[in-house]
Amino acid sequence: MLVVGGGITGAGVALDAASRGLRTALVERGDFAAGTSSRSSKLVHGGLRYLSQGDYRLVAQALAERQRLLRNAPHLVRPLPFLVPSYGSRTRMRAVSSALWLYDLAGGFRIGRLHRRLSAGDALAHAPSLRPKGLVGAHLYLDAHADDARLTLAVVRTAVLDHRAVAANHVTVTGLLSGTGGRVAGASLHAGGRDLEVRASVVVNAAGVWADGLAGDGEVTIRPAKGVHVTVPAGRIRTDVALVLGLPSDGRSIFVVPWAGTDRVYIGTTDTDYDGPLDSPVCSADDTAYLLDAVNAALTTDLSPADVVGTWAGLRPLVAGAAGTRSADLSRRHRVTSGRPGLVAIAGGKLTTYRAMAVDTVDRVEVELRRSHRPSRTANLALRGAVPNATGHLAGRYGSEARVLDALVAADPSLGEPLVPTLPYLRAEAVYAARYEMARTLDDVLARRTRALILARESSVAAAPDVARLLAPELGWSEAEEAAQVEAYRAGAC
Ligand code: FAD
Repeated sequence: MLVVGGGITGAGVALDAASRGLRTALVERGDFAAGTSSRSSKLVHGGLRYLSQGDYRLVAQALAERQRLLRNAPHLVRPLPFLVPSYGSRTRMRAVSSALWLYDLAGGFRIGRLHRRLSAGDALAHAPSLRPKGLVGAHLYLDAHADDARLTLAVVRTAVLDHRAVAANHVTVTGLLSGTGGRVAGASLHAGGRDLEVRASVVVNAAGVWADGLAGDGEVTIRPAKGVHVTVPAGRIRTDVALVLGLPSDGRSIFVVPWAGTDRVYIGTTDTDYDGPLDSPVCSADDTAYLLDAVNAALTTDLSPADVVGTWAGLRPLVAGAAGTRSADLSRRHRVTSGRPGLVAIAGGKLTTYRAMAVDTVDRVEVELRRSHRPSRTANLALRGAVPNATGHLAGRYGSEARVLDALVAADPSLGEPLVPTLPYLRAEAVYAARYEMARTLDDVLARRTRALILARESSVAAAPDVARLLAPELGWSEAEEAAQVEAYRAGAC
C-alpha cells in the first residue's frame, strides 16, 4: 500500500496499516507535516463550538481520541486549562455552563476533572489581562495541547521504527499508474532530480487540500478554508491559562494560548474561504489586525503589529458541502471514498481525530484488497518515546528518546548551547533532527523539528547561517549548498 501525503492523516494511515501487517510506504512531497499539519491551533480537543452546531457525534469522537492521545503520547499531548469569561448578564454564564456540561458528558469528564465556575476575582487571578468591567464570572475546563508537527513526526517514526513501514520526505507523486481495467497500480515519483515508479496494490490519497489535484478527475471534494495565528511574547498578555474569547462582531470565538516552555502566547484563528495558491497561504495585515483587534477589545492589552514575533497560515481540507455555507459552519467530519479501483481517498477531519480517520481508511483499504479483516491495533498503541510525566525541555519533546540528546550533549558540551537566542531549543536538537528525524533542509529544522520560525521569526533568520553551518557536515552540504539553504530559508520566512 502506498500512502500519498505525510501530514497527520497520511502518517496515521501508514501507522494503522503497518501495525495491521500491511506492507506500507508513505511519500511526502515536502517535509512531514509541512502542509496543514504544522499550521493548526495545536489543540487536541473535542471542539466546544461544534456542540453549538449540533455535531455531538464529532465532539464525542474527538474527546475519545483526545483521551487515547493523552495515554498513548503523554510526552507530546498535555492537558491545558481553558478559561471562558462571561460579561454583562448571568445569561451568558448559564449558556456556557450548559455547553460545558454537555462537553463533559460527551466525554470531557475522562480527563479527570469536570469544568468549574470561577468568580470574577478568581478569573482575574488566572488572567490579569481580562477586562474587569462587567466581568460576572468565568468557567474553567480542561482540554489538551500538542506540537502538531512533532506529533505527526512521532506517528511517522512509530510506523517506520516499530512497524516496518517505509517513509520518504521530499518525494513528490507526479501521477498515478494505471493497471489492468484502469485499476490504480502505483504512482510515478520525482525525487532529487530523478523520476521513478512504485507499484502498489492500493494507493491512499491523503494529500489534504492538494487531494483533488492528485486524483486528477476534475471532481471537487475539498473546500480549503484559511486560518491564521500570530505569536506574541508571553509578557504582552498576562494569563496562566488559555482563554476562549467571544467576538461580538461576528459571533465567533478565538483562542489565546500560552505555549508551555516557550515564553510565547499565540492567538488564533481566523476562518475564511480561500481560493488562492494552495502552496503559499499567508497571514495578511488584515488577518493580523482582525486577531489583535479582537484581543484588544476583550482584554486590557494594547497589542500592535510590532508585538508580533511570528505568524502562521494554514488551509483546512474541509469536505466540500453545500455552496453558500460559511467555511466556519462546514462540518469537521471526515469522509473516506473510493472513486477508482485501487485508490482510496481520505478527506476532512481534524488533527485530534487522525487515528479514527485512519481506522476507517484502512478498513476500506482491506475491502479494496479483498483481504480478510484484521482489526486496528492503534487504540492502545504507544507512540515512539511515550513516557508518562515527561518533564523538562528535552523530555517534553522527545520522551524516552531524550537520552540520545543527553548523550550528544555529554559528548560535545557545545551542543548544549541554545540553537536560536531567546528560544529553549538546543544545538543538539538540530544534529538529532538530521541524524534521526529525517530533516533534510534548514527549513525542516527551524520550522518543524523545532518551531523557531513561528515562535521568533527574526531571531531564527538571524541564526540561520549558524544553524546551516552546524547541519552542513551532518547532511553533506557544500559551502554553496549551505548558502543556498540559508537563502531559501530567508526567502520562505518573509
Ligand atoms: P496536510 O497536513 O496538509 O497533509 C497533506 C500532505 O500531502 C502535505 O504535507 C502535502 O505536502 C502532501 N502532498 C500533497 N500533494 C502531494 C504529492 N503529489 N506527492 C506527495 N505528497 C503530497 N485540528 C485539531 O484537531 N485541532 C486544532 O486545534 C486544529 N486547528 C486548526 C487550525 C487551522 C488554522 C487549520 C488550518 C486546521 C486546524 N485543524 C485542527 C485541522 C488539522 O490541522 C487538519 O485537519 C490536519 O492537519 C490535516 O492534515 P492532513 O494530513 O489531511 O493534511
